[in-house]
Amino acid sequence: MGVTVNTQTYPDIPVAEGEEAWTPQELAEVRQQLSDDVAQYEQKYLAAQAGLAQLLTEGSDTTGRDPADVGSSNFERDQEVSLAANARQLYEQSELALKLFDEGRYGICESCGKPIGKARLQAFPRATMCVSCKQRLERRS
Ligand SMILES: [Zn+2]
Repeated sequence: MGVTVNTQTYPDIPVAEGEEAWTPQELAEVRQQLSDDVAQYEQKYLAAQAGLAQLLTEGSDTTGRDPADVGSSNFERDQEVSLAANARQLYEQSELALKLFDEGRYGICESCGKPIGKARLQAFPRATMCVSCKQRLERRS
């Protein structure tokens, strides 16, 4: 399915105070970036998941193996688990942002309801929180 950028109209996406309004071109770029991210992270996630499934199959039989070997394959598996979880999170975030975009709810902080800001969205298109909410969240965790 091709996206026709020229004729497409975009919902009003808010900008932060002091920022210029979005141009259709900028919105098209951000949306393109999001849909690229969705595709890319989905592939990474699926690949990581497949790698994990393989490790689990291979690693299930530990009879007669050196305990050090078993230990390192557990480590490998843990790494694969966090890789898959990370890719999945990025995929889900990008997908959510794309969905919000298409529903015209993009660019609004899901925590405080204020505009996330154009500069931030151009740097992190999948952001669903403004900088201060994000920082507050990170300090807490
Ligand atoms: Zn906020």
